[in-house]
Amino acid sequence: MAKTSVYKFGGASVKDGSAVRNLAEILRNRLRKNMVIVVSAMGKTTNALESILAKKLSGEDFSLNCTILKEFHQDICQELFPAGHPVFAHLDNLFLQLNNDLEKKLSRDNYDEFYDRIVSYGEVISSRIVAEYLCYQELIILWQDAREVIHTDSDFRFAKIDWEKTRKSCQSSWKPLLANFPILTQGFIGSDPKGRTTTLGREGSDFTAAILATSLDAASVTIWKDVPGVLNADPKLFPNTRKFDELGYREAAEMTYFGASVIHPKTIKPLANAGIPLFVKSFLDPEAPGTKIHEHASVHHVPTIVLKKDQILVSFKVTDFTFIEEKHIHSVYEKLQSLKLRVNMLQLSAISISIVIDTQLFKLDQLISKLRDEFEIRYNEGLELLTILHQQEEEIPSLLEGYEVLLEQASRNTFQVVRRKN
Ligand code: ASP
Ligand code: MG
Repeated sequence: MAKTSVYKFGGASVKDGSAVRNLAEILRNRLRKNMVIVVSAMGKTTNALESILAKKLSGEDFSLNCTILKEFHQDICQELFPAGHPVFAHLDNLFLQLNNDLEKKLSRDNYDEFYDRIVSYGEVISSRIVAEYLCYQELIILWQDAREVIHTDSDFRFAKIDWEKTRKSCQSSWKPLLANFPILTQGFIGSDPKGRTTTLGREGSDFTAAILATSLDAASVTIWKDVPGVLNADPKLFPNTRKFDELGYREAAEMTYFGASVIHPKTIKPLANAGIPLFVKSFLDPEAPGTKIHEHASVHHVPTIVLKKDQILVSFKVTDFTFIEEKHIHSVYEKLQSLKLRVNMLQLSAISISIVIDTQLFKLDQLISKLRDEFEIRYNEGLELLTILHQQEEEIPSLLEGYEVLLEQASRNTFQVVRRKN
């Protein structure tokens, strides 16, 4: 039997009617049985759902936001389908369910579980629309619910994969289907042992593609993006970018670790372990070769810039005239872990620990209240973390022009600064 291949289309590739049409054109000559297509929420839908959740949590009226979100999807369907097509009934139904779920009780205690249930609608709605459109275009695919095969623990918003169970489900329920049809499914979502919806972390659909590829022993994964491939910097932020024709798994993983948003950080490891190549290609220029990430790529030393926005620098200073010891570091890390906050940069001095973390709704308050008794705490918000791999000394000053530097760290291969616009 031919080997499975996995395609993943992110939010930008289904952001409006013409994007969905373009997706169908990409599939027109490429669609085969034994293919899995992962589709993520349309455009900025997940952000819109997050805003609805934030409003609900603070007791504000969010009905207008729901209406706007529904109209956004309806407009896309109007562009793609004739009046009276069953997709409109599907859409009504899904929005009824969403509104019904939004009526339920939300507090800070059940926020993560509630979040996962609500944001999953973005993926389900999108995959439903795309599946209907492909079938309408006589590109016959089976719509499947990813939650039936992607099994996770109950760590809502950051759910960990149960690899063994996922593999079993993929092999027993999807493999036989794939022998006859391609499957279209959602990214980013899974289910816990009790069948509750979980999510794998923001932008997690790439990871879904990797999970499905390894669990189905696929031959390759292709991520379709709005860039020509993996570049050495974000072309929206930096001039003169270069595309990599190929990259090793390790280099690609390192770039994503520092925040390169072209691929989700968890995507590379399972593919590297299984030796499955990952292609990053442009949905605007589908014939172009893109970037191939694989085992045998030759090593490069091209300076690579990664920028992470919305960062907070938090400093914990010991208050009792002692010095920083292991127990202090341990204490800070323990609290960070309990709040599921990841440290993007760490610096120690004799009397303080400085960390850089992503901005996340009400997490900073919680962190401060947990550590207030042990440390004197200061923080700065609205910062950027700039990382340069294979830095060239002479190029650094121009990257910092017009910025105040709050923290700096350099090793032979990596240079990092936390900066703020003057
Ligand atoms: N729609 C989800 C998000 O925006 C997952 C993804 O795009 O991969 O985070
Ligand atoms: Mg998305």
